[in-house]
Amino acid sequence: MNKIQIHDKYFEILLENDTISKRTRLIGIQLNVDFDGRCPIFIGVLNGSFLFMADLLKEVAISCEVEFIRVASYEGTNSSGKIQETFGLSTSLKDRDVIIVEDIVDTGLTLAHILAKIHEQKPASVNVCSLLYKPAALKNPIAELTYVGFEIPNEFVVGYGLDYNGLGRNLKDIYRVV
Ligand code: 5GP
Repeated sequence: MNKIQIHDKYFEILLENDTISKRTRLIGIQLNVDFDGRCPIFIGVLNGSFLFMADLLKEVAISCEVEFIRVASYEGTNSSGKIQETFGLSTSLKDRDVIIVEDIVDTGLTLAHILAKIHEQKPASVNVCSLLYKPAALKNPIAELTYVGFEIPNEFVVGYGLDYNGLGRNLKDIYRVV
């Protein structure tokens, strides 16, 4: 099944599950080397990261902790526009090695908000591990973006955790809109 329809749009395969798995395994190996003996805390950003987080952590063999957060966006009443709020950050991150796990970095605005919140707690280190990254859409450079699965064109994608209006998160491959 190469071409699929979700709501009003058609999508074709961009990354097959096997390709995603192989890349995820390599990132896991790199994390095992980079964080050996440091017991990092992985923080997955819901909802989109749930499949990547699960598959990535199966490749992580070092001692680590796992948490999830959620970011809600809504339109503000002042001129700054969108307001974002982070939920679920209960563990203290002071002096910890933090690895934020994202599905996709698009404009990077969500990540910038999360990073600001996390840096407030004075962790020892902060790194971002994102499965997908759209360099052409990024608004401001993100110094913490250390681990990237795939750089992709500035196109809308679904599958493997990513949705289109609520559907498509369960697809095992990643599709691009056609
Ligand atoms: P950003 O703040 O970097 O622009 O993107 C934040 C969120 O927008 C991502 O975590 C993701 O949930 C959603 N997003 C960005 N690009 C895409 C895309 O191509 N497909 C889907 N399904 N979601 C996206």
